[in-house]
Amino acid sequence: MQELFRAIPSMDICLKAIKDENADLARLPQNLLKDLVTDFWNMIRVLIREKKITDASSLAIENQLGPLLAHVRKKLRPVLRRVLNATGVIIHTNLGRSILAREASEAAMMAASGYCNLEMNLATGERGSRHDITEELVRRITGAEAALVVNNNAAAVLLILDTLCSNGEAIVSRGELVEIGGSFRIPDIMAKSGTFLREVGTTNRTHLKDYRNAINENTKAILAVHTSNFRIIGFHKAVELPELKTLAEEHDLPLIYDLGSGNILDFSQEGLPPEPTVGEVIAGGADVVCFSGDKALGGPQAGIIAGKKDLIDKFNKNPLARALRCDKLCLAALEATLRLYLDPEKAREHIPTPHMISREPAELARAAHSLGARIKNALTSAGLACEIKYCKDISRVGGGTFPECNLPTTLVCLRPKNCAPQKLRDQLLDCEPPLVGRLENDAFCLDPRTLHKDDYREVTRVMTEAMAKIN
Ligand SMILES: *Cc1c(COP(=O)(O)O)cnc(C)c1O
Repeated sequence: MQELFRAIPSMDICLKAIKDENADLARLPQNLLKDLVTDFWNMIRVLIREKKITDASSLAIENQLGPLLAHVRKKLRPVLRRVLNATGVIIHTNLGRSILAREASEAAMMAASGYCNLEMNLATGERGSRHDITEELVRRITGAEAALVVNNNAAAVLLILDTLCSNGEAIVSRGELVEIGGSFRIPDIMAKSGTFLREVGTTNRTHLKDYRNAINENTKAILAVHTSNFRIIGFHKAVELPELKTLAEEHDLPLIYDLGSGNILDFSQEGLPPEPTVGEVIAGGADVVCFSGDKALGGPQAGIIAGKKDLIDKFNKNPLARALRCDKLCLAALEATLRLYLDPEKAREHIPTPHMISREPAELARAAHSLGARIKNALTSAGLACEIKYCKDISRVGGGTFPECNLPTTLVCLRPKNCAPQKLRDQLLDCEPPLVGRLENDAFCLDPRTLHKDDYREVTRVMTEAMAKIN
């Protein structure tokens, strides 16, 4: 083993070899390059200790230069990278939720790369408000009197409760005390805002009288939460909005509705269960609603608050609003996204999230066959053995929206001849760009729903590379 350790080439030899092979890498700051080289040999030392390397000659620089350069290049890649999403989960939380419409990414790019009138009123040349950028659009699309946008929907809930309920009570049904993945829990956010949670009803049934009996002199609001990510079936009752509205009015309490995803469009024609749109909830009497920008809306991460003007004014005056505000990139992308909603058909067509939800099963079957055929051709030409089949399956909206709702799709299912599908999955994560799919029925599967036709060439390339590596 000592002999093996002594066979590791010196730093000078490594740096010279890198320089001879790749002048660009050699121009990196020397301490950075040295660290990366040291890092590489430390990995090799572990392999020596584990007796996975036993041949000293394999350690010569001629034999290790390839892997060393690959290691250096890998370490220089950005951490946050583009990923090909072939999971069929549209609002994939781990892959950044919604992707933006072209119009929205161009707007964000504009705001990022030059100055913009973020807080300047160009009509007067005076100071303006960043809230004016999106307020008019949110009002038009939801029918609300006023609106305010903050960092995300968790921030929206926090700001609303902190403003209206701190040191008081808010009444919530036990069936609506939800946890959203990523550590957002209604009881915790209430506690953080200094709101005492007055739980009413039971897990599966809450009646209007439960709310009524809970009202006392400390009650500051009634809070309704859309049970976004789960469904109670069977013996179940929740109080409908009009009844809550009447009760809130009788006691002069604001009715707050955390809508979670917040649909602008109605997706029942896609076979999804009817969910109230933001406009319907506002028209139905909620005094203030809030929802995410990057769930079904298909925009950037944001929390949109819409409702009565006197309440929105109060939120604006709360110092927390400053701490929770959005940046210019987000506002630019959100404005462009909302603008597309002025024509709902255009929104469905141009915004990736609603567009992917709307894709038809027959079109997806054609897409799967077209993608599968390309991959088959490429693998055959490269002499790589892999069985490719197509199977009817389901896609999910994801992001804690439309739980248990199935969107019919067709998967391309790949079974490599020489290894387990798990190995193919792991290898694809190491490709550039990484390709994320799903393991099902003992195969590695690609769902075309979350891929663009323009991605097929890259999907085919990385699939061929990954298969070549594992063969
Ligand atoms: C998703 C969700 C949230 C949190 O929204 P973020 O935009 O992720 O902060 C809050 N409430 C409900 C009901 C949700 O579905």
